[in-house]
Amino acid sequence: MKRSSANGSVGTNRIPLLDLITPHRELQDELHAVLIKALSTASFVGGPMVEEFENAFSAFCDVRHCIGVNSGTDGVRFALIAAGVRPGDAVVTVPNTFIASVEAISQAGAHPVFVDVDPRTYNMDHWKLEDLLENACEKDESTGMVLTKKGKHRVAAIVPIHLFGQPADMDPILQLAERFGIKVIEDACQAHGAKYFSRRESRWRTAGSMGHAAAFSFYPGKNLGACGEAGAVTTNDPELAALVRMLRDHGQTQKYYHAVEGYNGRLDSIQAGFLSCKLRHLENWNALRRSAAQRYNEMIAAADARIVAPFEPSWSQAVYHLYVVQVEDRSAVGRDLAAANIGTGIHYPVPLHLQEAYAHLGHERGDFPVTERAAERILSLPMFPTLAEADQQRVVDALVQTTSSVVTDAAV
Ligand SMILES: *Cc1c(COP(=O)(O)O)cnc(C)c1O
Repeated sequence: MKRSSANGSVGTNRIPLLDLITPHRELQDELHAVLIKALSTASFVGGPMVEEFENAFSAFCDVRHCIGVNSGTDGVRFALIAAGVRPGDAVVTVPNTFIASVEAISQAGAHPVFVDVDPRTYNMDHWKLEDLLENACEKDESTGMVLTKKGKHRVAAIVPIHLFGQPADMDPILQLAERFGIKVIEDACQAHGAKYFSRRESRWRTAGSMGHAAAFSFYPGKNLGACGEAGAVTTNDPELAALVRMLRDHGQTQKYYHAVEGYNGRLDSIQAGFLSCKLRHLENWNALRRSAAQRYNEMIAAADARIVAPFEPSWSQAVYHLYVVQVEDRSAVGRDLAAANIGTGIHYPVPLHLQEAYAHLGHERGDFPVTERAAERILSLPMFPTLAEADQQRVVDALVQTTSSVVTDAAV
């Protein structure tokens, strides 16, 4: 009760979780030109604007092929199918991600199998992946395939998520995948331009270029966002790329000749044109996000409050799609920040293994304790390229005030 009166700063400007207005105002003329061009040529699906974006984005990601699709969800699904995932297979991922990663797996007909995450990076824990492959799976000696002991599903793919814009620790994941003969599809939907230092290759690599294929989302709020729905698959494998091209367009090899049954999963020309404009600014926007994250880190370190800042390993250059802290009594903190006119989010409040939609997988609370604990403590703070330092200070001050009152309340 004390708390709400202390933070009732009515009349202060709102600091949103995400500012989608400013970049569109700044790029207004360029974006209008795209629209006029599309209307005057009536080229709305496919065509040169899509190809132009695909070429630019594959160069940005340092891969040979980029295939524009309808959404990130389609991207993950098409990449899995094109990589050879078949109905009845098992696909390994983590339970703390957006549901789309898991929908893509089950809608490719496969069984999602979860491994828990690392408590500091929130990304796939490769030790737990190794434990799963060594102890919960077995090798079929006649075929050489790795099967889950439970259900005898062939483990066909691993889907690491580069959550919040930070790459998963790919070296050990790729090594395990090689050892067990499994494909790796990166979910790079939050990680456009993130970098990972591969210790085994002694070089920085770009998110979306490390697995057999990767999926990106250009949902408006992502670091590179369309003005509607859009996504992409990236890969260095020409055959996989050709298959994704077919899958996105009803399985066509040429008009009305369908080699396989596909989907309506194409990228709009207008969205591709918008994305090409915005892609030219992405490196700068990501650098601004990294600077904002650095400022938050310093402010939080100086505050000496019970706030856990994000952890960025030396091998990671995260692009801070989200800036996620951990606090005690998260719901009270979120309420107090809302009262101080500060937008926050929770990514994500309910781990996927505890979602009603996945009750049939038969999991219970306690199965993935690291994910479950994080889900109760994480809070996403305002994060976008033009976030001002003074606003960040206001966010951290409000956080300090509410977290110290939480401690006081607990002590009473
Ligand atoms: C946004 C997102 C997706 C899905 O992308 P859509 O374009 O919304 O379909 C998949 N995985 C993750 C981790 C995401 O953040």
